[in-house]
Amino acid sequence: MVRVTPLGRAAVLAVGSELLTPSRVDTNSLFITEQLNLLGVDVLLKTIVGDDRGELAAALRAALARVDLVVCCGGLGPTDDDVTRDVVAQVLDRPLVEDGEVAARIEARFAGRGLRMPGINLRQAMVPAGARVLANGHGTAPGLWVEHGDRLVVLLPGPPRELKPMMAALVDGPLRERTAGLSLVRRVLRITGRTESHTEEAVRTLYAEWARAGVPVAATILASLGQIELHLSARAGRRADADAALDAASSQVVERLGLDVYSSDGRPLEQVVGDLLAARRLRIAVAESCTGGLLASRLTDVPGSSRYVDRGVVVYANDAKTDLLGVPAALLSAHGAVSEPVAVAMAEGIRARAGTDVGIGVTGIAGPGGGTPEKPVGTVAVAAALPDLTRSRLFRFVGGREMVKFQASQAALDMVRRMLVSGARS
Ligand code: AMP
Ligand code: MG
Repeated sequence: MVRVTPLGRAAVLAVGSELLTPSRVDTNSLFITEQLNLLGVDVLLKTIVGDDRGELAAALRAALARVDLVVCCGGLGPTDDDVTRDVVAQVLDRPLVEDGEVAARIEARFAGRGLRMPGINLRQAMVPAGARVLANGHGTAPGLWVEHGDRLVVLLPGPPRELKPMMAALVDGPLRERTAGLSLVRRVLRITGRTESHTEEAVRTLYAEWARAGVPVAATILASLGQIELHLSARAGRRADADAALDAASSQVVERLGLDVYSSDGRPLEQVVGDLLAARRLRIAVAESCTGGLLASRLTDVPGSSRYVDRGVVVYANDAKTDLLGVPAALLSAHGAVSEPVAVAMAEGIRARAGTDVGIGVTGIAGPGGGTPEKPVGTVAVAAALPDLTRSRLFRFVGGREMVKFQASQAALDMVRRMLVSGARS
């Protein structure tokens, strides 16, 4: 038996001129990366290239010089602009030969729909000599598996519904046999209430310790809107060992950051809050001004949220705050609509009217207009009322209208989360 070196380093080539326009996103490479990671294969390089023979040949040569596995997707269609098959054959110096079985299968696919097979579809039956054909259960373009010395080139069709089952089948079978069988496992810890650098400062001394461990853990910090993400990854022979290393690393982070870590299992904030409400059999109602329903929308994005969401009202105008929530007109004129006392009155008002355990009030200036020197755009007052405790806070968010709205909804959810969790401890 010939011993082959296990594949460990991969490149993804996404082929298609449409992927270089503002209207189409290359999503296939994310799926391919996820699948390769399951086998412990690292993706070192991703390239998006148009339907151009010269560009694709150059990209493929560059990838082959750096990695041992190249996964191409797209450009396997029957039309003239689909050049992946030709270019791969040319770069790997193989003639293209017609595969009778593939031709028959494509013809049968057309016949099954009562159609004549257009002659151009025969292009899809052309296979680089020595390549293995990968059946496509969802379309006409077969995938191809081409060994080239100690390198492997895999060609997958572009449409995600055709690519996904084909890639998953490879990972379950032939690709698994060609890798060292290591599992690369990732975990995302989501954090609120700290900046990226404050997070880094608190956890950075752990990095060296993790790097030296039996199963090393690598970490990356990413700032996204309204939260920080700490991405951890570990690679081990057995998935359970990688999981154990990540469990230990996550616990160390939680020890240092405490309540600021809201999720270490991939749950978004609205689900974490929903789970807390459901576990305590509490119901919630929300009163929103500047978020215009976003908070209710996020809460109800979670399946099963009818167990704890009672209602949400959008009270934009001052009159609406008074009519629907009983916010005193005098309070509005004394403090202005965007103020902590008004947010508190909104939270307590909706809680009382809905008869729920929890009420939230959000009022702010999303911009771009409406700011004043004392209350610039991005000023948002948030309040949460629980049976025996009401809290409020005035935030100053940065960014455009949508960003302010999202951060306001995030702050409101986070306020409730912290009150529920610390209430349970005290
Ligand atoms: P093709 O195999 O190049 O003819 O691609 C067929 C269709 O698959 C395209 O029109 C896209 O809709 C889709 N597609 C191709 N490449 C990708 C990709 N990298 N990510 C997501 N969709 C893709
Ligand atoms: Mg294409």
